[in-house]
Amino acid sequence: MIRLSAITPSGHVQLGNYLGAVRRWAREGTPDDVYFISDLHAMTSSHNPAKLRTLTREQFAVLIATGVDPHSVCVQSDLVRELGALTWVLECTCTYGEAARMTQFKEKSAKTNSASRSSVRLSLLTYPVLMAADILLQGAGEVPVGEDQLQHVELARALARRFNGTYGEVFTVPKAVVPKAGARIKDLADPARKMAKSARDSTGTVFVLDPPDLVRRKIRRAVSSPEGIANLADVLTACTGKEAEDFTDRYAELKDVVADAVIEELRPVRERTVELLEDQPELDRIRASGASRARSRAQHTLDAALRLSGLT
Ligand code: ATP
Ligand code: MG
Repeated sequence: MIRLSAITPSGHVQLGNYLGAVRRWAREGTPDDVYFISDLHAMTSSHNPAKLRTLTREQFAVLIATGVDPHSVCVQSDLVRELGALTWVLECTCTYGEAARMTQFKEKSAKTNSASRSSVRLSLLTYPVLMAADILLQGAGEVPVGEDQLQHVELARALARRFNGTYGEVFTVPKAVVPKAGARIKDLADPARKMAKSARDSTGTVFVLDPPDLVRRKIRRAVSSPEGIANLADVLTACTGKEAEDFTDRYAELKDVVADAVIEELRPVRERTVELLEDQPELDRIRASGASRARSRAQHTLDAALRLSGLT
């Protein structure tokens, strides 16, 4: 069973991404799985090309440094031709109503006023179809996602079924899986929000590549509300693998213990990432081999889908 998951280079990898996704991919993944940097998805809102390239490279290095199997890691745009072709076929399988119904599109496009919807990129509407292409091209059977992405995996399922039923059996029908264990890490400064790499204010976000003294400062400044303390206990448990002891009325001590644990957990990842980023040829080699693996796995499905659609 091929599992497929992605991280979008919309910012630096943060502690929640690491504990909730990347470390899991390293620990639980198999070489058959696909873990990729979704740089195409990062273009659905205003983006800076140089920054996109740098973040993509950095995230790729973090995945490798964490120990995700290099055979299963790739960069989405290394398959842009294959994905472009399959996205077109799937857009011709999808209705406008299905795309416009996506909650995430409605939320992201309607943030300020009604004029904002007409000025959002068209790709914000169509990106769930690209996501379906990501999944179907690789023949993924399981797609671990957060609740917010369930609807998109449902769309991929619907499109796979429809295409198979209309033109012929090509696609594996994917299933969404929501990992149950593992808390969502909250923002340290505002525990009502989950930690996110694209948060506008990063005082409550620990980035995997933050230097240790900055990690400690951010954790010391974490809010000490019940939610904030519970979040710190979750972080501690995730780092040490043990239930946190009771730190009632000893919050300063708790914060130091959490800071120590996070710093130790991230240290090898940070050091290895820095090494990799300084070794461009090695990084390029790993990336090229991941891309060629993903591309060759995609070829048969893509050829069949094009042929059955009446193309090529
Ligand atoms: P963005 O702000 O751009 O949405 P993000 O930090 O939410 O960034 P994603 O690229 O959306 O990151 O998600 C990458 C992976 O990290 C997903 O598997 C997602 O479920 C996981 N993830 C993101 N934030 C957290 C968090 N706070 N705690 C645990 N897992 C998280
Ligand atoms: Mg997110």
